[in-house]
Amino acid sequence: MMSSKNRVIAVLFFLSAIFIFQSCATVPTNLSLAKEEVINYYESGKYEKELDKVVNKAIDEFRDIPVTDSSAVVFDIDETTLSNYEINKKLDFGYVPGLWDKWIEEAKAPAITGVKRLYDFLYEKGFKLIFITGRKEYQYNSTFKNLVNDGYKDFDTLIVRNSDENNLTAKEYKSKIRVELTQKGYKIAGDVGDQHSDLDGPDHGIQVKIPNYMYIIK
Ligand SMILES: [Mg+2]
Repeated sequence: MMSSKNRVIAVLFFLSAIFIFQSCATVPTNLSLAKEEVINYYESGKYEKELDKVVNKAIDEFRDIPVTDSSAVVFDIDETTLSNYEINKKLDFGYVPGLWDKWIEEAKAPAITGVKRLYDFLYEKGFKLIFITGRKEYQYNSTFKNLVNDGYKDFDTLIVRNSDENNLTAKEYKSKIRVELTQKGYKIAGDVGDQHSDLDGPDHGIQVKIPNYMYIIK
């Protein structure tokens, strides 16, 4: 039988445990502050610094890979090769389908220069360069134009998502396309993307994760 003194100690211990648990419970960052933090990251040069480190490491990894006629590297487009920071910020980091479509149609997304440096390095080494994007078939022409205008020239293939693939998750869709490319004879030496859903799954080779602090696509 617990003495009354021990009972008081036990109750105090229990209350302290609740207090500590509540103090440690995580709370979200205020959304306005989180957005400010993201804007500061992108506009203060920190993003480019992080990206340069990622690209330098990738170039080191690709440097010693032997290249054959079938060697290919896959690139995602949005937030990997082309930056949509301008429209994302304008939309306060929300998604408005009509305005997003208009932005893609205008084909004026700037190249992400660090990734362009990796693209040029891989092109010089003789890799075939393939874009796999979640953008839709009706956006093919404007996407092609945007890539070429930004200096992403001489790529092998641009693959957009067709209507049969709309029900697939990004990871399922991108994995499916990589497997199809492999079946056609391409040897995928690497995969460059800003989302884990660009990189996970079969046939990815060297995975290069480009930073993106604006959104997540699963
Ligand atoms: Mg992307």
